[in-house]
Amino acid sequence: MADAEEESFSGLKLSNWIVKQCSNIGLKAPTPIQVRCIPEILNGKDCIGAAKTGSGKTLAFALPILHKLCEDPYGIFALILTPTRELAYQIADQFAIIGTHINLKHCVIVGGVDMVKQGIELSKHPHIVIATPGRLADHLESCKTFSLSRIRFLVMDEADRLLVIYHKKRQNLFFSATITDTLETLKNVIGKEVFLYEAPAET
Ligand code: ADP
Ligand code: MG
Repeated sequence: MADAEEESFSGLKLSNWIVKQCSNIGLKAPTPIQVRCIPEILNGKDCIGAAKTGSGKTLAFALPILHKLCEDPYGIFALILTPTRELAYQIADQFAIIGTHINLKHCVIVGGVDMVKQGIELSKHPHIVIATPGRLADHLESCKTFSLSRIRFLVMDEADRLLVIYHKKRQNLFFSATITDTLETLKNVIGKEVFLYEAPAET
């Protein structure tokens, strides 16, 4: 159980500039998934987080990524995969608003936008790339000027939807009695110790 000190942004061991920026944009306290996941991500753990829409999952990964980015700002630092263009832009907005004072360079790679223009954006060494998988794959196939070799974070936002939309040709067979078992299986697939946060069931 988190104590009162942990349930503030300053109790989560995030850089002061992040705590300040959260307060500047009117966030009073971290949400439960943020309280539990941010310290684990800062500690270097892989993380599976499950909580309903609107529970603050984006900042649960964006804040620790931005914290770590300032320690090692070279190369594309984080790749965020998300199933739709709308979600990609929403995630980008949250990175941008927190990263506004650190010259954060981010880039959104989604369908329906000119490939050449996107290629130019990618060649400018963004720190954070937020992409839908199809368009990212197009760039990886056609463009030699950017590389994912230095990424420190891979985020699969809405991971269940990503699997459904982009792997129609592959059969994914998951058998389990409960959601928790499915998540436990994913932990084993990833192959090392993973922090698992599952929001408590509503009563
Ligand atoms: P989801 O869990 O569905 O991914 P989001 O991360 O998109 O949810 O967050 C939903 C909304 O809650 C966003 O507008 C976001 O800015 C806001 N939000 C995130 N964290 C907090 C917080 N700690 N306090 C208040 N609002 C927050
Ligand atoms: Mg979300």
